[in-house]
Amino acid sequence: MKRRDFIIRTAGATAASLSYSKLYADINKEIESTADQTHYDVIVLGVGSMGSSTCYHLSKKGYKVLGLEQFDIPHEQGSHSGQSRLIRKAYGETSDYVPLLERAYENWKTLESETGSQVYYKTGIVYFGAANDPFLATVKQSSSKYNIEVNTLTSEECNHKYPQFKLPSEFQRLEEPDAGLLTPERSILLFVQQAILKGAVIRTKEKVLEWKRENGTVTVKTNRGTYQANKLVITAGPWAGKMIPGLAPKLKITRQALAWVKPKKWDNFILGKFPCWILENNEYDFYGFPILPVGNFGGPLGLKLALHYPGGEITDPDAVNRNTKESDENVLIQFLNQFMPDGYENTLVMKTCLYTNSPDQNFILDYLPGFDKDVIIATGFSGHGFKFASVIGEVMADLAINGSTHMPIDFLNAQRFGS
Ligand SMILES: Cc1cc2nc3c(=O)[nH]c(=O)nc-3n(C[C@H](O)[C@H](O)[C@H](O)COP(=O)(O)OP(=O)(O)OC[C@H]3O[C@@H](n4cnc5c(N)ncnc54)[C@H](O)[C@@H]3O)c2cc1C
Repeated sequence: MKRRDFIIRTAGATAASLSYSKLYADINKEIESTADQTHYDVIVLGVGSMGSSTCYHLSKKGYKVLGLEQFDIPHEQGSHSGQSRLIRKAYGETSDYVPLLERAYENWKTLESETGSQVYYKTGIVYFGAANDPFLATVKQSSSKYNIEVNTLTSEECNHKYPQFKLPSEFQRLEEPDAGLLTPERSILLFVQQAILKGAVIRTKEKVLEWKRENGTVTVKTNRGTYQANKLVITAGPWAGKMIPGLAPKLKITRQALAWVKPKKWDNFILGKFPCWILENNEYDFYGFPILPVGNFGGPLGLKLALHYPGGEITDPDAVNRNTKESDENVLIQFLNQFMPDGYENTLVMKTCLYTNSPDQNFILDYLPGFDKDVIIATGFSGHGFKFASVIGEVMADLAINGSTHMPIDFLNAQRFGS
């Protein structure tokens, strides 16, 4: 299909008229047909969560962009697969992220209005944890510092509103109504669709083998060609350590297991009746989502939950053991039996996904030291980055084009771990 036909066929499409599989098929056909060029304003290495948004923001501003992706878009080998991601604003990690989140929320809304497709579902999130839990304390701190609605529920109120949970009476129960879930695969496809419509060249199944910078020009060599650009943005997710000199020892790639289960009482856990949730239990941090109807969301089918465990099994992104273990499953079943008695009948699907952990679990957004302002990196998302994708792309575009950003990212600089 020619670019013009693609634009005509997709420009007026709405969420209802453009199915996920058709969007996927059309974008991949268009990608195959993009014309050969060799010099760009910016090359984006890795078109996953952050790279797709970077291509979108750059091409929207009129820059000539090449996005290079080693697999299909989207795919299940990296960090963005699995149907849903939590989005929340009263941030429990540190309140420093809240200004970025405020912008991320705005940018998700813009993507939705530009495409007529929904990516954000406001389900609310309930947080559970012990009275002295540090994560919940920071949620409250972020809420009061930035005036974000977070309600404290008594155990009676919580039992009435969310009878699916069975919790120790001494647990705190907090509720953030303006939180919910994002659909990662659909978001990435929409970013890429919009980037293509604005003229970006996106090439899939094209692996970057090496890059170098000489005399202010970046040269990128792939398994299919060689390209040049004024700037390079590296958004390589779990492969960042292989693409960014000196960073590998600082990034720990861990394998995460997640499950979709059949609950005993299906209807009690569906979207509209059941919220997203996070439960902090000693050092363990579990989270989950309502059952999403397959008609709108595709699969997998079931009640999704996982353990957020940055200290998990370390792996090489090119050699991940995708077989889930009995121990991965058992920890989730035990959790459900303890805290959601009607939540488990049997397991439907288990999958794996990868975290790219920085030493302090905070992102790294910066110019790559030693390359002036020609190479920009976004990495170390440590299992909590997706909700920010809509603003990270904007920040990367600012850094590539303007040489600075007005967004407060100093706390995420690359120098903080030493050289
Ligand atoms: C199980 C799980 C649950 C999560 N839950 C949440 C959540 O609820 N909320 C939240 O906000 N975040 C969550 N996250 C984290 C979030 O999904 C990640 O932080 C985010 O997806 C990271 O985006 P990325 O662009 O760095 O990586 P990716 O999306 O993996 O993109 C990197 C891309 O670069 C490509 N690439 C790499 N090297 C090359 C090369 N040499 N040549 C060409 N292409 C290359 C890869 O193929 C890939 O497509 C979760 C992550 C996991 C694994």
